[in-house]
Amino acid sequence: MSDQFLLRNYTRYPVTLEAGEGVHVYDADGNRYLDMITGIGVNAFGYAHPRLTAVLQEQAARCIHTSNLVSSRPQQQLAERLCRLAGLDRAFFCNSGTEAVEAALKAVRARARPAKDRIVSLHRSFHGRSMGALSVTGQPCLRQNFIHHGANVTYVEPNDAGALREAIAEDTAALILEPVLGEGGIVPLDVGYLQMARDLTHGAGALLIADEVQCGLGRTGRPFAYQWADIQPDIVCVAKPLAAGLPLGATLFTEDAAQWLPPHSHGTTFGGGPLACTVALEFLDMMEEQLPHIAEIAAYFLEFLQALPRVREVRSKGLMYGLQLDRPAYPLVEAALQRGLLVNATQDTVLRLLPPYITMKADANEAVRILAEIL
Ligand code: PLP
Repeated sequence: MSDQFLLRNYTRYPVTLEAGEGVHVYDADGNRYLDMITGIGVNAFGYAHPRLTAVLQEQAARCIHTSNLVSSRPQQQLAERLCRLAGLDRAFFCNSGTEAVEAALKAVRARARPAKDRIVSLHRSFHGRSMGALSVTGQPCLRQNFIHHGANVTYVEPNDAGALREAIAEDTAALILEPVLGEGGIVPLDVGYLQMARDLTHGAGALLIADEVQCGLGRTGRPFAYQWADIQPDIVCVAKPLAAGLPLGATLFTEDAAQWLPPHSHGTTFGGGPLACTVALEFLDMMEEQLPHIAEIAAYFLEFLQALPRVREVRSKGLMYGLQLDRPAYPLVEAALQRGLLVNATQDTVLRLLPPYITMKADANEAVRILAEIL
């Protein structure tokens, strides 16, 4: 088999993964890997979790898809569950993080007025690759060739309070931020910065959008990472682990923000189908049960990662780790792979780990042992 008929838009690791169990995944030759990147934050409960597999099989045998022409009980239940967790009022379901951001941006656009249409975003942020989500993504190398002009977006440095104060003004329609920048190299935003973001947006009559696609749904030890700062965004975007590998994203709105997407203004064929929503309901039960373990194992793991040689800095929040190196990270990804460890490189010099929520001390020890060897 080869990639001959595939678009050449990815540089893939030299491995073909076929099956997994718990924190481990196996390649086509039966080699075992300890997965510390979890399909980029999706497989939060590892592979083939019996609870997730059971609900998936049961619902698949009942009904997979209905479309949004009709109501579905799993979708209604999931909307209520997510809104209650987030302190918000209304949910829109879609199929990816990008689409969750896109719905947020459409609400912002619909609410904008001629002198109030500027969006503020952060340098090195990542919000997705559609034309809308890309237009607020703070990585020029990704926008290049696609977003030329017209996007009225101001980028500011993460955690620079002065820059944020200067950027948010009466013409600001919205501020979009990841409470922990993920693709940007794992950069947790300070509690004070997040609180200031909320105060400034309130003051300017602008919406605050928390993109929790990577840092949300338990990954930092709370349902949402913004909850560490005790703030309430107007719009929250989630996706990745929500349906345990089935494509599902959600945009959660205050009643006030939701009014800008009235009937026929937005929609999707697949989004929020009964199969994905049923699995997501089970995932949320499991996530809530797992929060104390996430906090505990995250602290344990961090202590050992901080002791690794030749790492300049370890940035982390919960089970998100960015090991800042002084050299390219990708060769280390390959070296780790050869030793049976799956990790990832981002921003050229950052080794990123997004371990599963079911990581145990022995798994953390194993990952640290391999990392120490390759470093
Ligand atoms: N927002 C954030 C913070 C992300 O990390 C990602 C993906 O990595 C996205 C949006 C886009 O999500 P997706 O790849 O599911 O479209």
